[in-house]
Amino acid sequence: MSEAASPLAPAPATGAGAGEIEALDRDHVMPTYRRLPVAFERGEGSWLFDSDGVAYLDLLAGISVTQIGHAHPALVEAISGQAGRLLHGSNLFLNEPAARLARRLAERSLGGKVFFCNSGAEANECAIKLVRRHRPRGEIVVLEHAFHGRTLGALSATPAGDKQEPFEPLVPGFRVVPRDDPEALADAIGDQAAAILIEPIQGESGIHPIAEEVLLAAREACDQTGAVLVFDEIQCGVGRTGTLWAYEGLPVRPDVMTTAKGLGGGLPVGACVTTPELGDVFRPGDHGSTFAGGPLVAAAAGAVLDVVDDERFLAAVAEKGERLRAGVRALGLEDVRGRGLMLAFAADDAPALVRRALLEQRLVINATGPVTVRLLPPLTISLEEIEEGLRRLDSTLRA
Ligand SMILES: *Cc1c(COP(=O)(O)O)cnc(C)c1O
Repeated sequence: MSEAASPLAPAPATGAGAGEIEALDRDHVMPTYRRLPVAFERGEGSWLFDSDGVAYLDLLAGISVTQIGHAHPALVEAISGQAGRLLHGSNLFLNEPAARLARRLAERSLGGKVFFCNSGAEANECAIKLVRRHRPRGEIVVLEHAFHGRTLGALSATPAGDKQEPFEPLVPGFRVVPRDDPEALADAIGDQAAAILIEPIQGESGIHPIAEEVLLAAREACDQTGAVLVFDEIQCGVGRTGTLWAYEGLPVRPDVMTTAKGLGGGLPVGACVTTPELGDVFRPGDHGSTFAGGPLVAAAAGAVLDVVDDERFLAAVAEKGERLRAGVRALGLEDVRGRGLMLAFAADDAPALVRRALLEQRLVINATGPVTVRLLPPLTISLEEIEEGLRRLDSTLRA
């Protein structure tokens, strides 16, 4: 389908140029985001088109959200079909698309039960409430540099001073340990710990895979104390690393997993999945959400899994990831890290590099900080598009 999207095919202009949109945004939208001055109007496969019809190669996928590319025909069909039948029936009644999706997610991961929600932060809120319900008043241990979301519970699990301090007091009961110290982690888990919450590959802090010794220490500490091991797979799950879930490529299986971002292929849906032992921790009334797991987003997630949860597709993700990583290294870039199609490298003034890539090379990439560039292409990207992305990255670096 990447073939169908000619990068040169112009789209009709809307007349609303980036300047006008920029003014509307500045005057009426709360200034929580630093936005680059491009408005995308349409997408197809690995390509985005702005309001003047200019094509951009997308190596970011909306931060690992448009997992099977833009306007994937099967996803469009699933969404439009469901939209024409039923958008919302509420959680007061049975919901077939959600029930089938729950079975599928559980069967393809931890085997227990699923709570649906609308975002990554909400998936982690569910996990936090679940482990507290399981072990009341127990502490939750998190790693330095983790990112778990912006709502108050998830933010309290996100040990970054600049993100947390303005919003204190935070939710109590979280303890922070270093990212790479298995002994410190083991020492932090007493008999009263409720959980350890880990992103197996830290995304927002710049694509840092957690060392296997740390994951093994976490598993062992949980086994000894009965604490729950929770993996936040919101960025690294749904095929991103070349296995359906990142933990499948690791020596450790969690007790609870959270997913969101790529799960809906662009629609807001998240889930918290458990092992069978933890499937009935919540009781009726313990947790809920009006929109969560509605038929539209459940249909979308089913269509995404139809594409991604396929051995050959996942093997191709791993292969394309190798090619991208080798190509980035061949450009002379340093500190190249990640797994599958989840990759970062070091660069001086990364935000300026990202801006030049966008405005001069029409290449969509992202800076996670002042010296880190991150690539999260759609999993459907072709090898030719990867080569094109590397050429555009090279031109950006040379400019
Ligand atoms: C993006 C992200 C979140 C938060 O997800 P939202 O949908 O933005 O609330 C949580 N954890 C990880 C690892 C993420 O990458």
